[in-house]
Amino acid sequence: MKETLSLPQAQDKKLLGHVCLVTGGNRGIGKAIALALAESGTAVAIGARTQESLEVMKLEFEARRVPYLVQKLDVRDEGSVNEFFARTNKELGPVDILVNNAGIYKTEPMNLHCLSTWEDIIKTNLTGAFLTCRLSIQNMMDRKWGRIINIASVSGKVGEIYGGAYSASKFGLIGLTQSLALEVAKYDITVNAICPGWVNTDMATKQLTDDKWLALNSLSKDESMDIACLSVPIGRLIEPQEVASLVVYLCSEQAKGITGQAINVCGGLALH
Ligand code: NAP
Repeated sequence: MKETLSLPQAQDKKLLGHVCLVTGGNRGIGKAIALALAESGTAVAIGARTQESLEVMKLEFEARRVPYLVQKLDVRDEGSVNEFFARTNKELGPVDILVNNAGIYKTEPMNLHCLSTWEDIIKTNLTGAFLTCRLSIQNMMDRKWGRIINIASVSGKVGEIYGGAYSASKFGLIGLTQSLALEVAKYDITVNAICPGWVNTDMATKQLTDDKWLALNSLSKDESMDIACLSVPIGRLIEPQEVASLVVYLCSEQAKGITGQAINVCGGLALH
């Protein structure tokens, strides 16, 4: 009931009629993005690997009274991505807002970096986004409108210590964003990356309390969280909704002149 009271009125539904697809979307930043887009009026398709949290999202979409699709998805698997798009197209319509949010992180110093970790991170964070972009753009080009938003990281602009594969994947994602933005600009399709700093989600908590991370940085669990906050000029972690608000803005007509950018939402942690 509380949820229903906080729902936006019809006039706030600025993205009514659009169909968005968010990879991940069952928790963390992706969940905040999926809900913010739903509250702006879009039909929403989300896909991730964990059935349980996907089921919870069905209730969230039903409370917001938007058409939705919730499906198991592994962005590392081309067949799974193809199936997710085909079902979205059939049940909700062609995707005109794509948010590549699915991502994983692992702390591993380079001399001990496993090839399997490297491949898993690159496949999830970069190849997955390539697969979804490739499936989305033809329809956007035909309709002469589209929005693609890739959730990168400040680690895609500045190398992250003990996170070589992660940084490489996010640098790559920004490269993909820039190239695609140039290719499709003439069709009124914008392609941008958002680069969060520390965001208050499972990913950041796991990293900051991971034994390997603590040992490599000679930190205790308490020190690790305090130092993360102190490293951010605004003195706190970013909330997932702060990233989601920028996604909604980038989808709006007001943002149609913004493309090929990698925009930080990091509380001043990185300055370029
Ligand atoms: P999170 O809470 O760990 O969520 C990660 C999301 O990705 C989940 O929805 C997860 O769902 C999904 N996912 C992972 N592997 C997948 C796969 N193979 N196929 C489909 N979905 C998959 O992390 P988060 O903080 O929300 O991160 C979201 C994005 O923000 C990531 O790209 C991350 O790199 C980026 N980011 C986060 C931070 C931060 O501090 N938190 C900072 C910068 C950038 P399942 O596990 O159920 O598949």
